[in-house]
Amino acid sequence: MFDKFHEECGVVAIYGHPEAAKLAYLALYSLQHRGQESAGICTSDGSQLYIHKSMGHVAEIFTSDVIAKLPGRSAIGHTRYSTAGDTALLNAQPFAVTCNKGRVAVAHNGNIINAVELRRDLERRGSIFQASSDTEVILHLLAHSSERTLSAALREALLQIEGAFSLVCLAKDRVIIARDPHGFRPLAVGEMEIPGGGTGYVFASETCAFDLIGAVYLHDVEPGEMMMVGPEGLTRERYSPAQPRSQCVFEHVYFSRPDSVVFGRPVAESREELGRLLARECPADADLVVPVPDSGVAAAIGYSSESGLPFRQALIRNHYIGRTFIEPSQAIRDFGVKLKLNPVRHLLQGQRVVLVDDSIVRGTTSRKIVRMVRQAGAAEVHLRISCPPTISPCFYGVDTPNRAELIASNHNVEEIRRYIEADSLGYLSLESLRKAVADSRNEYCYACYTGDYPTDLVGVEELIASSKK
Ligand code: AMP
Repeated sequence: MFDKFHEECGVVAIYGHPEAAKLAYLALYSLQHRGQESAGICTSDGSQLYIHKSMGHVAEIFTSDVIAKLPGRSAIGHTRYSTAGDTALLNAQPFAVTCNKGRVAVAHNGNIINAVELRRDLERRGSIFQASSDTEVILHLLAHSSERTLSAALREALLQIEGAFSLVCLAKDRVIIARDPHGFRPLAVGEMEIPGGGTGYVFASETCAFDLIGAVYLHDVEPGEMMMVGPEGLTRERYSPAQPRSQCVFEHVYFSRPDSVVFGRPVAESREELGRLLARECPADADLVVPVPDSGVAAAIGYSSESGLPFRQALIRNHYIGRTFIEPSQAIRDFGVKLKLNPVRHLLQGQRVVLVDDSIVRGTTSRKIVRMVRQAGAAEVHLRISCPPTISPCFYGVDTPNRAELIASNHNVEEIRRYIEADSLGYLSLESLRKAVADSRNEYCYACYTGDYPTDLVGVEELIASSKK
C-alpha cells in the first residue's frame, strides 16, 4: 500500500517574495542532502497554484524555463529520498489537489505512523488515493473535514495523525506550516527583506537554506505549533497540547549540514564535541586521525584537537559522481567505494590510523573503507564512531534498514570489529551523545540507539509490512 516507509526529506516554504519560485529552488538546492530522488515546487500567484515536480536532483529539474512557469509570491518545495520504481514520480511532493477547501498543496518531512489505519478508514468512506505516500492521507483528511476554513480543517487533520511531520501547506492566498507535537524533525522560521520594501517569510528544514537566500533565522516552529502567513500577517497557534519533546538526535550526528542550526543548536558545535568526547572515551595509540569524508570530518577535527593527534585528510571523496557511470564488466573488488573514496597513500604508509566516521549501519561500507586504508599501507586501523551502536530502526523519518540488517542489533562490539577487520573499534556512549547535543532537559529521541520509542507504535508493524509489498 505504501511505497516506502522510511523517508528522508527536506521542505521549504516562502511567503511574500516576488521571486518565490527562485528562492524555493535555491533553498531546495541547499537541502539537497536531505533527499536526492525527486523534488518539487508549487507556487501561488494569489489566484492559482502552479506545480512542477520530477525525479532527479534539484539543479537538473528546475531549469530557468521551468521556473518561469511557476509565478507568484508564495511557494512550497520538497526534496525527497525514495525507492526507485514506477510509483516514485507519483509519490513526489508537493501534492496539489482541488477540493472543497479550494486548491491546496501539501508537502512534509517525516513519517505518519498511523497512515495505514487512516487510509483504510478514508477508503471505506469513499476516498480514492492516487499514490502510496502518507502525505496524501493529510489531503484526504482535509477534504473530509466539515470545518469551513483551511486552517481549521488542517488543525482537525493534524490532530488525527500520529508520528513525525514537519509540514508545509500552500493555498492561493496563504502558507500554513506545522510541526508534530513531539518535534521529531526540524523546521526553522526566517524572515527576509523584500525588494521594494516589506518583510517576507521563509520556513525550511535547515537554516543553511536561509543563508543562501539572505534570510535571517528567527526561531523554530514549536512542536505542536501551526503558523500561518496570509494577507492578515503572521499568526501562531498551538494546535495540540504540549508533549515531551523527541527531537531526532541523528540530525546532529549525521543528517543535517554542519552549517545549519538545528533545534536551536549549531550542528558543527555538536559534531566537534562528539569527536572530543569520543577521544576521551575511546583513545587510541596512533599517529594520525583521518575522517571518512564527509560524514566523519567534524567529529575527526574534535577527536584530533582533544587527543593531540594530527588531523590528515587521507581519504579523498569524489563529489561529482553522477547517476550513471560505466562500470567495468570485469568486477573490480569494492568498486562502488573506490569510485567515491580514494586513499592518499603517502599519508597512510606505515601509519597507525584512527579512522573516524559518524555511524555503522550494516557494516558493509565501513568494512570496505577499513580494507582500503589498510591496503594503502596503514600499519593499524582503529575505527571510532561518533555515536552509540545503531540497534533499532527509525520510524520517524530516517532511512535505516530493518533490525535484522543493522549489524549492531545482533552483534556485540567485538564481533563487529572482527567483521569490519579493524584493529580496534570504539563507539561513543549514550551519555556523551546527550552531552554533545547539550540535552540537559531530555528533549531528544535516541530510539535508534536504545530501542526505546517515544510514541506508541501501534500500526507500525502493518506499515512496515505494507512498505515491502
Ligand atoms: P554501513 O556500511 O552500512 O555501516 O554504512 C555506514 C555509512 O553510512 C556511514 O559512513 C554513514 O555516514 C552512512 N549513513 C549512516 N546512516 C545513514 C542514512 N540514514 N542514510 C545514508 N547514509 C547513512
